[in-house]
Amino acid sequence: MEKETDVLVVGACTAGLYFAGLMAQKGFRVLVCDRSSTADLGCRYDIIHIGEEYFSRFGLPKPGPGDEDYVDTFHKTTLVSALNKYPKNASADVLVLRRVPLMRRLAAWARSCGAEIMFETEFTTPLFNGAGKLCGALLRKDGMDFHVKARLTADASGIGAAVRVKLPNGYGVENFVTGPRDQFYVVLRYVKLENPAVDKPRFTKTWPYYKTWIAPQLEMDGAILGIGANLSFAYAKRCWEQFCTKGFLPEYEMQYIEQSSTPYRRPPYSFVADGFVVLGDAACITNPWSGEGVPYAWLLCSIAAEEFAEAMKNNAYPTQTAVWDVNTRYQRSQGAEFAQNLAMLPGAVACTPEENDYEFANSIVFEDENEKGKHNIVLGLLKGVLSGGISFRSLTNLIKAAGMGGKIFKHYRFFPKKPTDFNAWTAAADVLWSKTRSMAGLAERDSEET
Ligand SMILES: Cc1cc2nc3c(=O)[nH]c(=O)nc-3n(C[C@H](O)[C@H](O)[C@H](O)COP(=O)(O)OP(=O)(O)OC[C@H]3O[C@@H](n4cnc5c(N)ncnc54)[C@H](O)[C@@H]3O)c2cc1C
Repeated sequence: MEKETDVLVVGACTAGLYFAGLMAQKGFRVLVCDRSSTADLGCRYDIIHIGEEYFSRFGLPKPGPGDEDYVDTFHKTTLVSALNKYPKNASADVLVLRRVPLMRRLAAWARSCGAEIMFETEFTTPLFNGAGKLCGALLRKDGMDFHVKARLTADASGIGAAVRVKLPNGYGVENFVTGPRDQFYVVLRYVKLENPAVDKPRFTKTWPYYKTWIAPQLEMDGAILGIGANLSFAYAKRCWEQFCTKGFLPEYEMQYIEQSSTPYRRPPYSFVADGFVVLGDAACITNPWSGEGVPYAWLLCSIAAEEFAEAMKNNAYPTQTAVWDVNTRYQRSQGAEFAQNLAMLPGAVACTPEENDYEFANSIVFEDENEKGKHNIVLGLLKGVLSGGISFRSLTNLIKAAGMGGKIFKHYRFFPKKPTDFNAWTAAADVLWSKTRSMAGLAERDSEET
């Protein structure tokens, strides 16, 4: 069997289906392949939270009461200190959804836009033309290999980045593997509450110090107790056990556990190469604070669809130069913000529970939505040191981390407009990243110390 299309998308989940639908809407022939069966698509975990606004912002059909993927909506999120005090609220309409039927919704939408989806079909090998340019892939279905000729191959295959890691060195997008130290390990405990009338969560409450949270789930008398940790599931388990000793959680009976991981490292410097784009978790663009990835995947997909549609007009092959603005537009905005957070976080969390409590009490780093812009962080920190609320060591850590975060933010805001300036930019970016600390390193040190 041999197939020809304009766009081949590898991976039919939140990123791949959205990009496929957008490109099909723009009149391109789109083929999506996923190694999952139709029934298993998206079954990595059950409940997913997505801000309601993103469905309208990205032109997707929004789930609502009565739909198979809809569970609930909550209207705010709250952060509390390491000592369970000083709630910092943010208003947000967040949909509580079931992932598997949500993928069915997205697949139906992509098909309605004109995309074809092949399940139980695995990407195995990228194909290159005589000039060394990517021109499609070898796929495998029912044990048989077949060629798909495509002007654009989009890698939306999740953390494994099936296509990106097989690109030759120097093709234009880094081919690193997102290894164990570059992942955020998320464990979700679905529980039945002993006292639901009192304890049922109406919104997500997060203890950022422990990277733990309690959130609504589909059962009215239930909750999801979540933890995310760098390094390993074993370390996440240890952190959870320590957190449970604090007594902040309601009484519950365990139902079942789900666990999976998201990328936790800087994204490739370029998302595009000749005939290629990387999207979603394959591009490592999850939020460093929360591990959430869907809104940012949709953002990158929408930028990429606009730029590739323009570059592929009149049957043209999309060269890296023609679609360079995918990089410029993403890296200068969302990319800069996440790069700053990724660089800053290890310094921001390296403090004692009491210091974290002091930060909450004085709205340093952690602010309520009504307090935004009202506090001077530096002044707050200095007062903290003078009053003994914050140690000099933690102050130095925070200042160093904030300084490095600021430098990286500025560097990404000046992401080069043209590929010709890219090598100099990446060399400088490498130097900045080499000076940052890693969350996995901190976790390792913590494991050794305790
Ligand atoms: C436990 C947990 C909870 C999370 N909760 C949230 C949340 O509440 N909100 C949020 O925004 N984000 C959340 N995230 C992050 C979110 O799940 C990811 O960012 C998002 O799923 C990434 O989507 P994706 O389409 O890039 O990749 P995936 O969802 O990983 O999909 C990749 C697809 O590619 C397919 N594939 C892989 N290799 C091949 C191949 N060789 N050939 C063909 N197909 C292939 C896979 O079968 C899969 O269907 C959570 C993550 C975890 C781990």
